[in-house]
Amino acid sequence: MNTNKLKLIDKEINQMLVVMHQNAANEQIAEVVKAIETMGLQAHPLAGSTRTAIGVTGNITAVDPQRLASMGGVLELVRVTRPYKLASREMHPEDTVVKTPQTIVGGGNFTLIAGPCSVESEALTLEIAEFLKSEDVHLLRAGAYKPRTSPYSFQGMGREGLEILKKVRAKTGIGIVTELMDTDEADAVEDAADIIQIGTRNMQNYALLRRVGKMRKPILLKRGMSATLEEWLMAAEYILAGGNQQVLLCERGVRTFNDHSRNTLDLSVVPPLQATSHLPVLVDPSHGTGKRAYVPSMALAALASGADGLLLEIHPNPDKAASDGMQTIDFATFSKLRKTLGQLSPFLGKKLS
Ligand code: PEP
Ligand code: MN
Repeated sequence: MNTNKLKLIDKEINQMLVVMHQNAANEQIAEVVKAIETMGLQAHPLAGSTRTAIGVTGNITAVDPQRLASMGGVLELVRVTRPYKLASREMHPEDTVVKTPQTIVGGGNFTLIAGPCSVESEALTLEIAEFLKSEDVHLLRAGAYKPRTSPYSFQGMGREGLEILKKVRAKTGIGIVTELMDTDEADAVEDAADIIQIGTRNMQNYALLRRVGKMRKPILLKRGMSATLEEWLMAAEYILAGGNQQVLLCERGVRTFNDHSRNTLDLSVVPPLQATSHLPVLVDPSHGTGKRAYVPSMALAALASGADGLLLEIHPNPDKAASDGMQTIDFATFSKLRKTLGQLSPFLGKKLS
């Protein structure tokens, strides 16, 4: 018995990473997975470029840690110290790359996702999608369901908005990102979307997080407006623990004492987030600033922060937008910004996609 293998083990065997030897055979990995499952826990094999690790999650039960430590092919058991496990780099050292039929997010790409705050009409959504395609942008974001502070504000077009998004996708081939606010609408939104957005107000709506954890499409999880890094990753953990590995995080500004901007765009969260988690990180400077004049500079700052992409509100006539016009940039501003991002991205180790 290798006592080293046991030194990190305690009763919290459910917060473990079983690191396999570099030359461990597939049968040995399968044996360990089986042993974990026999203990009533879940095994998550994470294949790395040189070795495989197996994440262990589940309820703490009386298990025999020696059994795992002494199995063939096991190098060591590492205690995962953070409360989030599947979201952590300890369990998943390599960056997650999120794929949609149109594009990929992460893996050295800087991905632009843009569109109007709300779906307003078919003609307008189509016009924006065609503009984005001409700018080589492959994901359109537009809300059919809008979480509004006032019940008297425009609440979005609902199902009709989803139908418009489906038509625009069919006509242009652009990928659709749209928000889900309510578990009742989950099937309809999943059907219309390539990426499902969970907004800031729902970051801790656990029923909704559990529901999207069962989906097989990527989830864009916005940071709660007062959420710490840990609370945010715990929310992502709900989705990952449900079996959906395709999660994108999006910083969209937090509430502070500032009154010069709608929110305080916390770009300082990007490096620690990337150090602690493998999930791609996007930045939304539209909601982050609340003012269109400040969107381009904060978008460039987001690229410099190391983020994996942007979420931007654009509209051909921002002053006429049905929601969030104040923070929405027009087509010309977007084109100019995209050009600058394209020029700068190679210097920052990113490929504009
Ligand atoms: C939105 O993306 O239009 C939106 C409502 O975002 P948030 O949840 O960040 O406020
Ligand atoms: Mn908005």
